[in-house]
Amino acid sequence: MKYYSLNKQAPSVSFREATVRGQAPDKGLYFPENIPTVDAAVIRNIEKYPAEELGYIIMQPYVGDEIDEDSLRRIVSETVDFSFPLVPVSPSIASLELFHGPTLAFKDVGARFMSRCLGHFSKQQNGRITVLVATSGDTGGAVANGFLGVEGVEVVILYPSGKVSDVQELQLTTCGQNITALEVQGSFDDCQAMVKDAFMDVDLTHKLQLTSANSINVARWLPQQLYYFFAYQQWKDKNAPPVISVPSGNFGNICAGLLAHVSGLPVQHFIAACNANDAVAAYLDSGTYQPKTAVPTISNAMDVGNPSNFVRVLELFKGSHKNITEKISGYTVSDDTTRETIANVYKRFNYTLDPHGAVAFYALERYLSDHPQQKGIFLETAHPVKFPETVEAVTGSRIAVPLSAQPLFSKEKKSILMDPSFGSLKEWLMNR
Ligand SMILES: *Cc1c(COP(=O)(O)O)cnc(C)c1O
Repeated sequence: MKYYSLNKQAPSVSFREATVRGQAPDKGLYFPENIPTVDAAVIRNIEKYPAEELGYIIMQPYVGDEIDEDSLRRIVSETVDFSFPLVPVSPSIASLELFHGPTLAFKDVGARFMSRCLGHFSKQQNGRITVLVATSGDTGGAVANGFLGVEGVEVVILYPSGKVSDVQELQLTTCGQNITALEVQGSFDDCQAMVKDAFMDVDLTHKLQLTSANSINVARWLPQQLYYFFAYQQWKDKNAPPVISVPSGNFGNICAGLLAHVSGLPVQHFIAACNANDAVAAYLDSGTYQPKTAVPTISNAMDVGNPSNFVRVLELFKGSHKNITEKISGYTVSDDTTRETIANVYKRFNYTLDPHGAVAFYALERYLSDHPQQKGIFLETAHPVKFPETVEAVTGSRIAVPLSAQPLFSKEKKSILMDPSFGSLKEWLMNR
């Protein structure tokens, strides 16, 4: 499989090169040259496939012969070695719980796959790869955990001091080994600007092989298709495929679902559920795309003003607004409505949503009230314990910390304080 740059000003590359580079030299996102079709017999008999076998079948065409079969099977099985249960919440709505991984959020899937691919590729070259990533919360933890102990790869995570939740900070700062957390005394935007400057800096890019680990990277984006297939495995009524509602920020997750659908996965309709950062929902309404400046909300992993992966959504539908709106509906959900939804769903169904899942639940319920014959799934992208202040305040009940997260609280935070300037980051990277 070859990948081309969506800016069309750079040569096509292999899966390996797309993964190691992250972004094309013309700053475009990489996109697969053709979209593989999943064998209809696999879809028909989908319930028979163990997760790691199905995962291998889906991912293999995207990787091609760049990773040998044994290694790819091992990478896929390590990527999906936790559960992805589809839990009924109401008679017409089920929750696809994507928070059973090590950092309690769906980003574990992409981060685990990407880290293992990079580790594999780093063995075939001289010198280490340095992953540089800015996080507003969830990305950093998933990347830290996914890359921990991967040989040949150093990870440097920048996060805004005091602006991530306690659980998120512990996940970022307690790994040690090849993971370093830089605690930046500024905002998430400062962190992101510092990382962007680093990728443009000639001294740094000469000294270090830098790559990023956000959903721009194909090795993080593509494996997110897998849990859409796992959802369909567990969907009872195969004659009436589900509507799927995705809480969306950078649009990597929903775009992976759309890719799965284009390659043969039955899905009735997709819902792009947004908080106040709704540039794409506005585009679906009007046909005009106008990026915004991000505003803070209680579903903060979705606070993205100009979603990077929107260009991939456009590419999938050949840029046609009509084709896109036939398959995707957009909703904007305010913080007040998000809180009410968490409270209502807790009261009505005794199910605890996190703020991101709540945005998706509300949008799905709205859509289903206009399409009463249909049923749907929303993606519950994080465990509510990651956002205890918001959730406990509206439900009035304490959220139990899952067993898998308990050891975190006895670990010691280690971070390096840094002022929010590229100069400080550069000096630190050059001299370490
Ligand atoms: C990252 C994240 C999202 C948004 O996913 P995108 O792929 O950026 O659209 C939603 N919910 C949670 C909990 C996240 O961490």
